[in-house]
Amino acid sequence: MEVRTPARMSPAEAEAVLRRALESTGQRFTEQRAAVYRYLLETDRHPTADDVFTAVRAEIPDISLATVYKSLETLVGCGLAVKLTYGDGSARYDGRTDPHPHARCLSCGAVLDVPGKLEADALERLGPVEGFEVEGYRLELVGYCEACGRN
Ligand code: ZN
Ligand code: MN
Repeated sequence: MEVRTPARMSPAEAEAVLRRALESTGQRFTEQRAAVYRYLLETDRHPTADDVFTAVRAEIPDISLATVYKSLETLVGCGLAVKLTYGDGSARYDGRTDPHPHARCLSCGAVLDVPGKLEADALERLGPVEGFEVEGYRLELVGYCEACGRN
């Protein structure tokens, strides 16, 4: 199966995908939701809700943070975005929904995509977990981004 990465979608395709996903879950297409989705597709920075609010406000000045937040959750709910949650309660959003590893900065919290993927048998090498059915994995590399450095 070909994995369509969002980056390969034209704005028209992205809108069609969004309309279909919303309609199939009984929800309305709105310009706010479309703007939030477009921004998620065009960035690889894994923005927070605040980041998305700042970016989308340039296009829709009267949009509220609450609307941005609800739009993000709607996108996650219909499978068009992934919510990355962290132990400190913060969250970031990813418009790329195929499984892929991330690298997270321990200082500023920046999240980057990691190129490449693990061998198909990597999960099997971990061995079974007794009393647990594995559905997939989340892999996160931790370290320091270029801007933060080690200190
Ligand atoms: Zn950093
Ligand atoms: Mn990602």
